[in-house]
Amino acid sequence: MLIPHDTRIALDTVVDLLNTAPANGRPEGGQADGLPDVAALHDFARRHRISGVGELHEKDLRAVRDVRTRFATIFATDDAQTAATLVNGLVAAAGTTPQLSNHDGYDWHVHYFAPDASIADHLAADCGMALAFIVVAGEQERLRHCEAPDCRHAFVDLSRNRSRRYCSSRTCGNRLHVAAYRARRKEAAG
Ligand SMILES: [Zn+2]
Ligand SMILES: [Zn+2]
Repeated sequence: MLIPHDTRIALDTVVDLLNTAPANGRPEGGQADGLPDVAALHDFARRHRISGVGELHEKDLRAVRDVRTRFATIFATDDAQTAATLVNGLVAAAGTTPQLSNHDGYDWHVHYFAPDASIADHLAADCGMALAFIVVAGEQERLRHCEAPDCRHAFVDLSRNRSRRYCSSRTCGNRLHVAAYRARRKEAAG
């Protein structure tokens, strides 16, 4: 599956956004929200280079959390019709206006968010269209949650054969391998 560069960036952003949700079992933070305040939202915007959103306020935080919940619902469904309806609703509410741009030394790419869009609308438009691309490609099963029992992080499986099971093979995958190895050894010794 060929995924354009900007779609890949938007997918990274939506995964990171989803993984700030308390329900996504953040192993290190328990049930804490990864976006507890406006400062955290500011960090998120800077980390993901979300341009032109101006000063952020409490209402932006509420709106972004709301959009996050809607993305979680899209990730949770296997049904293309349901996903299509949800994505359509999300991007329509965000007032999507596709514009080609090559700002800040990036190659040509499409911005879907409207000029002067709020950060929530920006995320809804660009990440919503990235998920639209996945639905169009018939690749919804790539929107996954980590199979490690105590993790449940969201991720997008971009592996060639769609075989990825863990959010990170270095942490979750490796952790489970070690646990399985120890269990086997114990059995052999017992
Ligand atoms: Zn851009
Ligand atoms: Zn994981």
